[in-house]
Amino acid sequence: MEWGAYLLTLIGAVLGGLVILYSVAGYYHVKYYIRRREHPEAWKCQPRRFLRAEQQRQAMWLSTRNLTIGGLLSGTYIHAISLGLPTPIYFDVSDHGWLYTIFSALLLFVVTDGLAYYAHRALHYKPLFKRIHHVHHRFVATTPWVAVAMHPVEFLIFQAVTFAPLFIFPVHYLGAIAVLVYALAFNIIDHSGVRLSSRWPWQGPTTYHDDHHAHFHCNFGQHLMLWDRLHGTLRRVGRRYGADVYGGRGSGGSSGDEFVRYE
Ligand SMILES: [Zn+2]
Ligand SMILES: [Zn+2]
Repeated sequence: MEWGAYLLTLIGAVLGGLVILYSVAGYYHVKYYIRRREHPEAWKCQPRRFLRAEQQRQAMWLSTRNLTIGGLLSGTYIHAISLGLPTPIYFDVSDHGWLYTIFSALLLFVVTDGLAYYAHRALHYKPLFKRIHHVHHRFVATTPWVAVAMHPVEFLIFQAVTFAPLFIFPVHYLGAIAVLVYALAFNIIDHSGVRLSSRWPWQGPTTYHDDHHAHFHCNFGQHLMLWDRLHGTLRRVGRRYGADVYGGRGSGGSSGDEFVRYE
């Protein structure tokens, strides 16, 4: 066991997550919450709601703590691989070829996104919501610092579903890193509280997840809206949602109510 190498890997993994958090969240914080604070109706998803200063500090602390835990775990996993832990992750494209390398990275993205939907939906089951997931939903108006501000058990659940596919099918290590970085960066953007449309056809606008915080039990997806459409849990026009309306389909309205359009 080389303790020096282990320590360096841990520091690198922890810093990797924190640098992404502080640079992406910092960018949106300065651009909107400081420079354009006086005109929230021009950019904010929920223009009349702001987090109180102590809520903002709590969100920053929870996100920093969780990403530190995540970095320590993923750093340990990376170091174990370097010591010979068997893994389907590969390091040389020629092992499986370019076509498979690209396909497997896309597959990893879709599989982890699907697992995140089901894990998140399970967390909205009333007993789990009250015990665990309510911590993340304290922030009805989100800010970029809310992205991973959650109960540590919830963070470990999401960490587990993100890493699980890496034990099942071969993925090039850069493909795995790209999917992880994308997931974290877009989670921060989706929690920014800023009305932003997406440049990518598969990625919803920020109002999609912002509505999850404003209306609670609908829009459980992470990046793709596919899973919510498939299960009818995308927010629908004319239905009532709220902290006390569990189940994902709201109340009132008729079964034919159309989905809210997110563009
Ligand atoms: Zn939720
Ligand atoms: Zn959220």
